[in-house]
Amino acid sequence: MRATLDIRDAGFIDHDGIKKMLEAGRLASREDVEEILAEAQKAKGLSMPQVAALLQVQDPDILELMFREAKGVKEKIYGRRLVLFAPLYISNYCINNCRYCGYKKSNATLARRRLTMEELRDEVVALESMGHKRLALECGEDPVNCPIDYVLEAIETIYHTYSGISGSIRRVNVNIAATGVKEYRMLKEAGIGTYVLFQETYHEPTYRFMHPSGPKSDYLWHLTAMDRAMEAGLDDVGIGVLFGLYDFNFEVMGIIRHAEHLERCFGVGPHTVSVPRLKPAYGMNLEEFPYLVSDDDFKKIVAILRLALPYTGIILSTREGPAFRDQVIELGVSQISAGSCTGVGAYSKTGKDALPFEDSSQFQVEDHRSPDEVVCSLARSGYIPSYCTACYRSGRTGDRFMQLAKSGKIQYVCAPNALLTFKEYLMDYASPETRQTGEEAIKEHLQEIPSEVLRGQVKMYLERIERGERDLFI
Ligand code: SAM
Repeated sequence: MRATLDIRDAGFIDHDGIKKMLEAGRLASREDVEEILAEAQKAKGLSMPQVAALLQVQDPDILELMFREAKGVKEKIYGRRLVLFAPLYISNYCINNCRYCGYKKSNATLARRRLTMEELRDEVVALESMGHKRLALECGEDPVNCPIDYVLEAIETIYHTYSGISGSIRRVNVNIAATGVKEYRMLKEAGIGTYVLFQETYHEPTYRFMHPSGPKSDYLWHLTAMDRAMEAGLDDVGIGVLFGLYDFNFEVMGIIRHAEHLERCFGVGPHTVSVPRLKPAYGMNLEEFPYLVSDDDFKKIVAILRLALPYTGIILSTREGPAFRDQVIELGVSQISAGSCTGVGAYSKTGKDALPFEDSSQFQVEDHRSPDEVVCSLARSGYIPSYCTACYRSGRTGDRFMQLAKSGKIQYVCAPNALLTFKEYLMDYASPETRQTGEEAIKEHLQEIPSEVLRGQVKMYLERIERGERDLFI
């Protein structure tokens, strides 16, 4: 890691600069755009002016070309593997008043709860029994009801909750409110995977409007959170925008600028970019948000992010419905959530005990398929559903991960480890139908491993998993 926060770069979202680049982008000719797309194929990323030009594309033929190239770039780097995870909401206490969020303080009738460690264990066992190996821990911001010590205890509990033959959570990513270097160091010591925080909107006036009170209302504190996280040694960070709060063109430029900033100051860009789209939530009305993003624009956003940030994971959540998710995954997405609940305690409380939506949920999800249905559908579409956590556990984080990705060698670990974790899933959790589909898929993908030696090793590991061994990785 290079230096501590470069203070001259602290207000790094230059609003006028971004607006000027977007205006200049409007002047790009068809030839200019084709040239940019040709360059994007090299998987070296794109500059902000190039991104501004791509954002203006409306021509359906060029959009099709862009979509094909985005898919090509993702597969060139990561192959057909698609990583699966689930969010786990541990507390919905919140002292902020984000206009879009079901957890906002002014939602006075929302049943506030935080999980006891016993309830948390029940949630983890429920998630493990779906086959999950990586979680994103989520909570509202409340230093009294959900202090950092509680979050740390929750992380430890999650890592120490085991069930069945392979039920264990191997990577906990954490999405908690912006905090200080000291707290980020504690998260680092607790062994978290990625620290995730969405900027929500990079547009400062909109940010101020959307976050009228509470600690989150401080735009610069929120904007520089990843700098503090990096300074604390958390070198895998995940950024994102809540699409629908402001003009998506500005937001995409903000994401690229944020990535450039982290690369410039710390020598490594974001590990992931999330693309949540605004959905209905308790106590908010979508009609009050004039910048909602259409499906077509959303696809363009994902494709451009893939071309501009070829080595960064792109995360698509269950906020999107199944059919649309299938389309968007094709545009370069590398991680998806599955079987998600956004309520506190909602995984273990099912059937007659299920919590009503307005009881504790943060927002509505649209993909209600079980992880098994998602896994089966992915396998049928030629993807390798992956529960892999090998890079993080082998110390390949931050720039070590990026170097491997940039050298083109990441596929030699990604596809094999995806196959091994997929095999474990099939052995321990799959329905008979998914198991049959998956076993056939594994045979096919095994043949795609280019090196004979590696293929032999993977085959041997698959047999060992068949005989009962678990958690093997390359
Ligand atoms: N408390 C942390 C913070 O302040 O950043 C974690 C945030 S929350 C648990 C996770 C994310 O859900 C938010 O960052 C926001 O982008 C998203 N979210 C909130 N309300 C939403 C809605 N109505 N539709 C879609 N996503 C929403």
